[in-house]
Amino acid sequence: MRDDDRWPGHPRLLPDESVSSWFTRTAAANGLRPGELYRIVQPGGDRNPRDFDRHADDCLLDLLADKTGLPVEGLKLATFRRWSGRLFEHDDGLNKLAWLPPAGREGGRRCFGQQICPWCLRADAQPYLRLNWRLSFFTTCPIHGRLLLDRCPSCAEPFSILRQDGRGAICCPGCGADLRDLTGDEPALDTVSVQRDLLDLIREGWRDLGEYGPVYSFAVFELLAVITRLLAGGKHAYALRTRIAEHEAGLSVRPEAVPRARDGALLTPRARGVLVAMAHWLMADWPHRFVEAAKAAGMASTDLRKRPVGEYPFAYAHAVDWYLKQPHKGDATAEIMVAAQVLHDHGQSASHRNLVALCGTKLGSMGGVAEPVASGLPWGKGRYWKLDGVSPEVKAAARRAAHGAGEDVGPWLDALLRRTLGLGAIKTPFDGHDPDTITPDGNVGCEE
Ligand SMILES: [Zn+2]
Ligand SMILES: [Zn+2]
Repeated sequence: MRDDDRWPGHPRLLPDESVSSWFTRTAAANGLRPGELYRIVQPGGDRNPRDFDRHADDCLLDLLADKTGLPVEGLKLATFRRWSGRLFEHDDGLNKLAWLPPAGREGGRRCFGQQICPWCLRADAQPYLRLNWRLSFFTTCPIHGRLLLDRCPSCAEPFSILRQDGRGAICCPGCGADLRDLTGDEPALDTVSVQRDLLDLIREGWRDLGEYGPVYSFAVFELLAVITRLLAGGKHAYALRTRIAEHEAGLSVRPEAVPRARDGALLTPRARGVLVAMAHWLMADWPHRFVEAAKAAGMASTDLRKRPVGEYPFAYAHAVDWYLKQPHKGDATAEIMVAAQVLHDHGQSASHRNLVALCGTKLGSMGGVAEPVASGLPWGKGRYWKLDGVSPEVKAAARRAAHGAGEDVGPWLDALLRRTLGLGAIKTPFDGHDPDTITPDGNVGCEE
């Protein structure tokens, strides 16, 4: 390659820098915005670059290497390919990656897959994004001990390095705030040791799962994702969280302090950190600790395995079928429907607990009939909304702001009042709630 083929600005990759961050700095070094440089290297491509960390192809990386004089292998390792065969088996570019959610905006949806540590950015001579910040189990900065941010605290816009207009500083694409001016909370519990163990797992490439022997790390991550989903949402999520909190002092977070969501990988870093630590705890001594907890939470194989067996990691599907399959008791659905009607006639919900109390026993098909414990009502409309004396418009605004921040109203309000009143963040900042003051809700971190 001749030197004059290179662009005038060709910065080096910084330690652990993501390729999208490097691309943005390269654009700035040549007096361009990332979108402008993208249209030069991909004429006729989309107007806005897609998530480079995942979607930069060989052709593009070869061209970038050529124009900057950097080794193409180094650029590849600054993309998700670094984790291919370790964190995920392979990436077809289409399906969701369990631990690497999309970043920025995709098809108009806000996606919170880009996290940042404002303290790291402040310490950088030239602020840049680390590839590790894309990992959704990575929720706390190991250097600064603070939670990463996945959205702007002022305007709730997700971060997107490829939508930068600035020259040098990294700013919120919504309101223009310099990310170095932001600040993050302390994690609710020790998440750093868990994420360190998971990074070790990626490095080692396999783990010994007891009677299932050595298992590839990507299958272990699939297993962790399945367990995290059970803890994130569904009708047994609170029961499982409660069971864990009772058995492990380090994980004693009230189940209501973490919002419910379909997919735990999409919650805020604070909530995600809690759920990943819980799932990690359940995965130890596989499958016995998990089986005990699932039994205690009243879960049977039908609750744990909704999809065909081949869609689950073997160590999970087998453990569920082997340890948690219920003997066939005959179909009691008709009786349970009658019991549910009785409860309704008396103004009570047909929750699992109420059904068990009424029938005097747990029946396998109750899960299909029982209503979720959560009210399912939008924020502030539930019967637990108890801010007496607060005007309706303040309630509505609080609800919107909490939603924007990815929190339930209770924890959000608690953090706000703490800041206003000058009370320090406690180690488990959202742990002191009266469970009756917040309404569980199906908030997800990625907008529908
Ligand atoms: Zn940091
Ligand atoms: Zn903003």
